[in-house]
Amino acid sequence: MTTITLVQGDITRQSADAIVNAANSSLLGGGGVDGAIHRRGGPAILEECRRLRASKYGKGLPTGQAVATTAGDLDARWVIHTVGPVHSTTEDRSALLASCYRESLRVADELGARTVAFPAISTGVYRWPMDDAARIAVETVRATDTAVEEVRFVLFDERAYHAFAAQLEDGS
Ligand code: ADP
Repeated sequence: MTTITLVQGDITRQSADAIVNAANSSLLGGGGVDGAIHRRGGPAILEECRRLRASKYGKGLPTGQAVATTAGDLDARWVIHTVGPVHSTTEDRSALLASCYRESLRVADELGARTVAFPAISTGVYRWPMDDAARIAVETVRATDTAVEEVRFVLFDERAYHAFAAQLEDGS
């Protein structure tokens, strides 16, 4: 059984086996969570991302996929980088957002991670509406068969926290 917990705060301050990064496909860092993780995690993360680009992801990490690196100076063993879809009003990209959660958990299982912290993927510069993103996140984690014992959603602000809390109450 996977327990879902919610925390309001900065994901880079969390202690977990794995911390998920809402990365962009270049794997070379960016703003939002990505920038914060690289700032606090130090250069080891970016070095490994560069190596992954050179060896495997020359065209970038595809949207909806996930890959792990060291967590550098973060209080975690791994960072799992996943690329969320940019929200679109003309195309339903929900399956790609769900895939981010599923693939991150699959990678976590491969690593043997038992606690995994997720941000609200795609809800920043990728503009996914928070309530819908929270629904997809919670539904997908609930539907995924994984050995991860705790999935912790780390929400930056109160609005995000309440959106996720509403989804948790819904299905419990
Ligand atoms: P994306 O490009 O997938 O939209 P962003 O990093 O822009 O990713 O934003 C994703 C979500 O993470 C947003 O809701 C944003 O408010 C939140 N966020 C930004 N910084 C942090 C942080 N340090 N810890 C947790 N959540 C954060």
